[in-house]
Order: sequence, then C-alpha cells, then structure tokens
Amino acid sequence: MKWRGRQQSSNIDDRRGQSGGLGGSPFGRGGGGFRMPTGGGRGGRGGIGSLIGIVAVLGIIWLVTGQNPIDMLTGSGSSSSTSASSQAPASAEQAELRSFVGVVVKETEDLWTEVFAAQNQDYPEPVVVLFTGQVNTACGAADSRTGPFYCPGDQKVYIDLSFYDQLRDQFGAPGDFAQAYVLAHEVGHHIQNITGVLPEFNSRRASMSQEEANAYSVRVELQADCYAGVWANYAGQENLLEQGDIEEALNAANQIGDDTLQKQMQGFAVPKTFNHGTSAQRKEWFERGFTTGNPGACDTFAGSV
Ligand SMILES: [Zn+2]
Repeated sequence: MKWRGRQQSSNIDDRRGQSGGLGGSPFGRGGGGFRMPTGGGRGGRGGIGSLIGIVAVLGIIWLVTGQNPIDMLTGSGSSSSTSASSQAPASAEQAELRSFVGVVVKETEDLWTEVFAAQNQDYPEPVVVLFTGQVNTACGAADSRTGPFYCPGDQKVYIDLSFYDQLRDQFGAPGDFAQAYVLAHEVGHHIQNITGVLPEFNSRRASMSQEEANAYSVRVELQADCYAGVWANYAGQENLLEQGDIEEALNAANQIGDDTLQKQMQGFAVPKTFNHGTSAQRKEWFERGFTTGNPGACDTFAGSV
C-alpha cells in the first residue's frame, strides 16, 4: 500500500506503554465489542453461553464477542504477564506502524465522511485506541489476546499492534493491506453502530438461541467485511493500491474464516458455531464491497449469505 507521506488521522489515542489497569468499574453496558477473531492460545471451545456479552474470568472481565468459540476465553489466566512499560514503542518499526495506522484510519474517515455527506449526514469519526497489554473500555477490560475489536459503548476501535505479528505468523496473513483490512473491518462495525445494525443485533439477540445468534453474527461480520472492501475500492481510487494488496486482504479474509480457523485449531469445523463466516463467505463479501465500491451492495441481511 502506498501510504507514506499521506495525512494521518487525528483520532488515534496512543496508549501504548500505559498500564490499562484493571481497577475501576469499566462496565459501560454498552454492548459487547465486535472483533476480528483470533485463534490465539488454546481456547475453550463450545458451550459458550453468550455470543456477545461480558464474562467474568478469574476476576477479570473479558470481552466476549462474536468470536469463534475456539478462541473465546483464550488464556483464561488472569495475570498479566506483560509489563506495560516494557513495551513502550521505541523502535523505528513501531513508529512506522503507528504512522501506517494513522494513514489508514484517515483514509477511512475520508471515505465514510463522503458517504455520509452524500446523505446529508455528518460522519462521527471513531477514535482508534492503540494499547499494549491491557485496556479499559466501555465494554469492559480487555487485553491483547482479545484481538482487535470495536466497542459500541464508547465508539472506539481497540488494537494492540502486536496482533499484526500474530496475523502474519500464526494466521498466515502477511502484508500491509492485510493489516489495513483489519482496521477497515473494525471501522465497518462503527458504521454498523451508527446505522443501527449493531444496536438492533444487541436488542434482538437476547431472545435468540445460540445458533440463531451465531447466524445473525455472521451477517453482521460479513457486512463489516464488505465495508472493508468498499474502503479498499476507495483506496484504489486514491491510488494507494500496490500489486498484491487486494490479494493480501483476501488472503487475510480467508485465513480468519471460521472453517479455516476451526480446522487449524481443532482439526474439524462445526458450522453451527460459525459466527464470522466461512473463508469463502468472507472473501466473497470483501470482494463485493471492493468491486462495487458501494456500501449499498453490502446488505448481508437480505437473502442467504
Ligand atoms: Zn468483526
């Protein structure tokens, strides 16, 4: 991605090196976060009660979101082994990553501001919080193992940038445009929060069975993937794309598909537990957003997905 030299967002809240702390009462009841799935660690699997909720684990409130059961409640230990200050970003590589994120977020702001303006609406830009270790959010406290997520309660995207190492090494999804896709997907959840998709899901899921909620979650996640594709289309219009960028995003979408993740983690896939979509679905909806450049083409709630 040709991002160098571009303007950066002013909505980056860089809390790296700060202790997120677990004191206080971060129970904003703003609804659960919506996140990229990570297969990190050896998670418990199956039988997870709430699709998107807040679960106490050994005294820590973890974000438990629409994530794959295999990675839910990963590393259920409560202790934080990371000393936040020891991870203070210092390297040139870290600084560059920070700049990259700033540019990608700015480009999402430009796109969505345009889209909203076309409907005579203001786009309320989300804040993107960079953290290391742990972080408090309106959705509860989270740590790096949660993976990148969006919290509707405070309208913020949270990401520990070490996730990108995991994305490359563990999930086999290298490349800067894979990284950009992750951010654009989370911003997609922010769009859904504004348009009412997330609030409706939150209000309806209480009366759903687990399977129904999973199926609904898949549609929510695929729409966020489609919105990420719309952003990729915009990035193309801005001449930011390099050869291989779209392939990097599609590969990432493939690698974090529920079926692929579950097979990697446990050797087999259980479709009724899918809550982000299969690899094929995730690629297809990203591609639909990318080829059309039209958020209106991202209606994952009509018909089959
Ligand atoms: Zn998501």
